[in-house]
Amino acid sequence: MYGWNGKILRVNLSTDKVSVQEYNAEFAKKFVGGRGFAIKILWDELKPGIDPLSPENKLIVSVGPLTGLPGPSLGKIVIAAKSPLTGGYGDGNLGSMAAVYLRKAGYDAVVVEGKAKKPSYLYVEDDKTYILSAEGIWGLTTFEAEEKLKEIHGRNTGVLVIGPAGENLVRYATVISQEGRAGGRPGMGAVMGSKNLKAFVFKGTKDIPLADPQEYRKLVDQCYEEIKSSANYEFWIRQGTMATIEWCQENAVLPTYNFKEGVFEYARLIDGYSMEAMKIKRRGCPFCNMACGNVVVDAEKKEAELDYENVAMLGSNIGIGHLGKVSVLNRMADEYGIDTISLGSCIGFIMEATEKKLTKEGVEWGDYKKVKELIEDIAYRRELGNFLAEGTMRMAEKIGGESKKWAMQVKGLEISAYNCYSVPGMALAFGTSSIGAHHKEAWVIAWEIKTDRTGYTKAKVDKVLEFQRIRGGMFECLVSCRLPWIELGFNLEWYPKLLKAASGVTISLDEMYYGVADRVYALIRAFWVREFGGKWDRNMDYPPARWFEEAPTKGPYKGTTLSRDGYNQLLSQYYAERGWDERGIPRRSTLEKLGLSDVVVELEKYTSLTQ
Ligand code: SF4
Repeated sequence: MYGWNGKILRVNLSTDKVSVQEYNAEFAKKFVGGRGFAIKILWDELKPGIDPLSPENKLIVSVGPLTGLPGPSLGKIVIAAKSPLTGGYGDGNLGSMAAVYLRKAGYDAVVVEGKAKKPSYLYVEDDKTYILSAEGIWGLTTFEAEEKLKEIHGRNTGVLVIGPAGENLVRYATVISQEGRAGGRPGMGAVMGSKNLKAFVFKGTKDIPLADPQEYRKLVDQCYEEIKSSANYEFWIRQGTMATIEWCQENAVLPTYNFKEGVFEYARLIDGYSMEAMKIKRRGCPFCNMACGNVVVDAEKKEAELDYENVAMLGSNIGIGHLGKVSVLNRMADEYGIDTISLGSCIGFIMEATEKKLTKEGVEWGDYKKVKELIEDIAYRRELGNFLAEGTMRMAEKIGGESKKWAMQVKGLEISAYNCYSVPGMALAFGTSSIGAHHKEAWVIAWEIKTDRTGYTKAKVDKVLEFQRIRGGMFECLVSCRLPWIELGFNLEWYPKLLKAASGVTISLDEMYYGVADRVYALIRAFWVREFGGKWDRNMDYPPARWFEEAPTKGPYKGTTLSRDGYNQLLSQYYAERGWDERGIPRRSTLEKLGLSDVVVELEKYTSLTQ
């Protein structure tokens, strides 16, 4: 095979057994890589109902057939497992040299199972794999641990690492690389911690086999040129995703005070222009010529990397209108290995509970000093931090009463930084995202606000599906960054061309969307249904009650909420378009059409399927 290495590295940390599995071209074409490989392996191999933090869970890092090759924003890696936050399928991706070196070592994925007897890390150097002691590294922050591992193994390595939050099983602990690249929101860092696995270190020196190297190089030059000549390129380089603060404020969708409001009185102080005044450099993922990591000097005179989501969730959502301080909180989250979106949501939730006098020990809106202490306490699961380390769904179960209504999550995963009380299409995107409420799949909000903000139309369902197929399907399986396309209008037709030149295999965009992406979505949904069995129903795809019942009091859309009937109608249309039944479960005929007949047999053990 060209393009794909055709090899998956298998590691059992309980037995120290290491093996290599080969896979064939049919598997490659059906699932492509990244998220596709991960869900297929988890579906086939994971025993249903296992504790996600037990040795039985399997942790997968996987890349795609273009990963490791030069090309626009292709240096990313997926990390996936059953999620300790949601109990369903969890994954995330991050840009890292680990993606490049894993491919150059000759693999397309690593599957880790079991649990090491003592803290360890995995070191892969071409054909050699070692499970090494993490003594002296366990307990360090992600920044310190990566530095130490590079001192040991050299600078030409790629490292994926967890911090104290992952070690202490914080349910939304992430995996970090290169001091600021973060991925695996639904607790992939905690899964690593539960396996006593501090890090992956990859070093590879092999060439990735290409079908047509000359053609590939020619295409890549053209791709980079198209990105650079985009009208928006210069402004993107200045602000990256940070421009979104201003846009969200203007459109009254900036999450503010635990999503109670959509506008923030201090938005100007945390927006892209304030960031520009503090910016000292840019950082980015490998092979990216539009690097979007804005590095600033924070209020403690240290470097921190900012993007929209973390500034909104650790700024307006918790009432902090000082970018230097928000930068400190963000850096701390990266050092400890905590997801900034869930973190900002959990802190916003406890602040609201404090305001409503529902907790003995609380935190006031905007209390920066207390938030700093709290982040450390979350990472080490101390006192109130131990409660917040569980995520908003479990926090609301404990607090009880009406608090579930303003625990801003779907399926247990906290909602990313868009307040959708008056944007139904984006609410549907959060409701149906395959890992819980995440924006990476169907970020339709910009299109929706431009076209028809408050309507409940079929066009919105179609847009969500279109974006899920492109972003959650094609990009997550190729493991390619979505930002060149969504932000700078990079033409999607380049991807099949690049794939053909790299692998010799033709997968058209239509096949990517209606074959690979739909197959992967159906399989992920089957995974959720199998895990939840009889408890699964369409309510799992609903956003929190706040968006239906409590209107913001400020901004141009004050007094507006989502309509339950309207949302319900969108959801039914979405299911129908996907070929899923009214419960949101793939129909037998849909699974068969997607080449998943084996899934029918397995899923029928857990629920009845509709024809
Ligand atoms: S645009 Fe940003 S997230 Fe995407 S590959 Fe480049 S640096 Fe990474």
